[in-house]
Amino acid sequence: SGQNPKLVAGNWKMNGTRSFLDMVAELRVGAAGGIADTDLLVCPPATLLAAVATALEGSSIGAGGQDCHAKESGAFTGDVSAEMIADCGATHVIVGHSERRQYHGEDDAAVAAKMQAAHRAGLVAIACVGETQDQREAGKALDVVRKQVAALLDDSVTGANTCIAYEPVWAIGTGLTPTVADVAEMHTAIRETIAATIGADEAAQVRLLYGGSVKPANARELMAATDVDGALVGGASLVAADFLAIARAC
Ligand code: PEP
Repeated sequence: SGQNPKLVAGNWKMNGTRSFLDMVAELRVGAAGGIADTDLLVCPPATLLAAVATALEGSSIGAGGQDCHAKESGAFTGDVSAEMIADCGATHVIVGHSERRQYHGEDDAAVAAKMQAAHRAGLVAIACVGETQDQREAGKALDVVRKQVAALLDDSVTGANTCIAYEPVWAIGTGLTPTVADVAEMHTAIRETIAATIGADEAAQVRLLYGGSVKPANARELMAATDVDGALVGGASLVAADFLAIARAC
């Protein structure tokens, strides 16, 4: 477990139509029942962001985007800027998810630019990093992730404006998870990497989320690992009862 208040963020990916607003209402009621010391965040597709943010107004649950363009506005058909996400009433945006890196060719420099855009717009960036199965099997997981994290950092990063989500690519949507020891080792390495740029005191306040097949059944164990300050949840965030159970497990 980390020293920071936990954050449990749900990444809906390309799932959700307006009927999902009923689920958001369920989350709102569930969270009002009291989930001590854990912040909740829902990241719906861009089409639902304004509606979800509005549905959550005045609740303890926040809304976030799943990606943003690096520029504020312009001739970028189909893209959404960080400023637009903030204008929806969102407080956070995910950047550098492995699906963006894999299917949209985003490299570390592109992700870093998106993180800066998030900060420019006053959003908290949830920046994703993580090794592939081949990289882990080759013994390169720590090196790969340290390099990804270092590429994101500059001296504008603070505990208040940035979270790092460690998501091993092979654990996303597969039901597989690293061992608790592997998660702890990686999170400690990530925090050390952040400290090298912004100093240990500030780095201690950057929330480090674990993501990859987090479920109600494994959340307690994973969230208790050293230097874990929360979870980024994909599949299980689409079921209100599961998402709330994960939040309670923190
Ligand atoms: C994710 O894609 O961010 C994720 C963690 O997915 P899942 O929980 O479905 O593995």
